[in-house]
Amino acid sequence: MSTRRPVFGDTREQRAAQDQQLEHRPLRLLAVHAHPDDETLWHGIALAHHAALGDDVHVVTCTLGEEGEVIPAELAHLEGQGEALARHRREELRRATATLGVRSSILGVGPAAASATGRLSRWRDSGMAGTSAAEHPDAFAGAPLAEPAAALAEVILAERPDAVVTYEDQGGYGHPDHIRAHEVTVAALTRAHSVDPTLTTRLYLTVVPRSWAQEDRAWLAEHASGDQEVGRGGPAAVVVLGPDDPYPPSVVPDEEAPLRIVDPAVLPVVRAAIAEHPTQVLLHDGYYTLSNHVATRMRGREAFVEMPIPLSVRRHEEDDESRTVGGQQSRGLPHDHGA
Ligand SMILES: [Zn+2]
Repeated sequence: MSTRRPVFGDTREQRAAQDQQLEHRPLRLLAVHAHPDDETLWHGIALAHHAALGDDVHVVTCTLGEEGEVIPAELAHLEGQGEALARHRREELRRATATLGVRSSILGVGPAAASATGRLSRWRDSGMAGTSAAEHPDAFAGAPLAEPAAALAEVILAERPDAVVTYEDQGGYGHPDHIRAHEVTVAALTRAHSVDPTLTTRLYLTVVPRSWAQEDRAWLAEHASGDQEVGRGGPAAVVVLGPDDPYPPSVVPDEEAPLRIVDPAVLPVVRAAIAEHPTQVLLHDGYYTLSNHVATRMRGREAFVEMPIPLSVRRHEEDDESRTVGGQQSRGLPHDHGA
């Protein structure tokens, strides 16, 4: 009988077939995010899809989004209030992840530490590029890489996820904390694989196939142009980007986005999770906006590309006899391609 490990991006059909096999176990998936709301906006479909398959899904969030703008007038008093906004957004994150059916934790904060110090996060939102928030001593983007990478490597070694997902190296849209989350994830995985060469964790980066991005803009031009919304500054026009406006760095040629998760059935769950982030997001029919009023279409699909785990640390270790595992030389690749 052939057996197959559960893999990131399994369809319902693949998993149903796998459930017939004796060796089935749930997939372990770890998502690394910069701020509360990113888990739902960037990976909501993948997370809800795998949670619905019965997989173990864990979201690690690196900061509590202390620098975020606040949309609803009734919560505007939280904006710029660091700790108070962090506390509020921690609860939004808790509710959103519960809605998605996934676990949530904050990088560098164990349950004991949180109750002992009352501190909800180790690192702080660095704000948009060029803002003074980046100069705060706890700003995530300015933290030396080693400490957050060690904290995340500890999680990876304890949970041994099958797959880790995060942003590509430009952080999806260039936010310094998103770029840092990518760097920390790569460093943590490199470290974890060097500590434990039997680890089979793979790394996937979220990308958007250009044809999807083009389709979504065309749809928005038809369905969202002329819409109004009421946000922090009163009534405003929804902004729909045109076909010639630049695309963010996460948009790539279709062939560079080979792994697709298409599951419209979980869209209502993701929509409900987005609704748990009211300080950051306004929901419309078929799309959402952020505080800048720019519309993003909600679809039941996300795309990824696998990033090989850097080998630099492991090359050094190949000289070391400790790589012999269980009497056999362990394989020379950072992860198992045999699934
Ligand atoms: Zn973010």
